[in-house]
Amino acid sequence: MRLKRFWDDAIHAILSQDNNSIMTARNNHFNKLKDIASFIRPEDAINHMVISTYIFDFDGTIADTSIYSKLFPKLMATLSKNTGLSNVQIKEKAIKQYRLKEEEGRLDTKDLFKAFGQLDTYYEAIENELWKKDFIKKDVIEKIKKITERKGIAANSLKRTILLWMKIYSLGNLFDFIFTGDDSKYTKSSVLYWKDLMRKEDITPKECMFIGNNKKEDADIPSTLGFKCILINDFLKLS
Ligand SMILES: [Mg+2]
Repeated sequence: MRLKRFWDDAIHAILSQDNNSIMTARNNHFNKLKDIASFIRPEDAINHMVISTYIFDFDGTIADTSIYSKLFPKLMATLSKNTGLSNVQIKEKAIKQYRLKEEEGRLDTKDLFKAFGQLDTYYEAIENELWKKDFIKKDVIEKIKKITERKGIAANSLKRTILLWMKIYSLGNLFDFIFTGDDSKYTKSSVLYWKDLMRKEDITPKECMFIGNNKKEDADIPSTLGFKCILINDFLKLS
């Protein structure tokens, strides 16, 4: 029992890479992270965990999202041509009439096309570009292929988007489940998203490793529910 507690602390320390959280969690029992973790290699700690399910984020973790910034000017030109509106007018109409909200100062391109009834045009452009070049992260895919436990995806994206990537890169058989923005009315920044995921896919968080690229959405929020979380660059370092 004591040994198990020790491992849990060590794992937490290594995965969170956060001195302060460990000190708080253990009531200042440990002075520094290295006091408990210095002689444990991360790969040993990971191997020691009982992980029955591995879940991956999609955008930025499996998918190289540079495709979206690359296509943005071309997509906006198409939308402008099809609607007869300038970019400024498109933005104004989207916010006032279609009630779209900006995130980090910009509107989501897919939401724009959807609002103007041009979603098929959007997906056509994405599909054409995906066929031209590898936007899938091959090193991550190779690593996922070696995992024998249950594997899934949990993303904010629409199912249609993920299925398109799966089709083009022949990844249909790699995952046991795909949980998307269509499966929850919340996004990953809400614990309710994670609760929907747990319910739908019958997941016990402490037996689940989540791998993503966004500290807040993919680690800070799910770890409050007990998910073991690791960011993609650290995941790739593990043997
Ligand atoms: Mg991501």
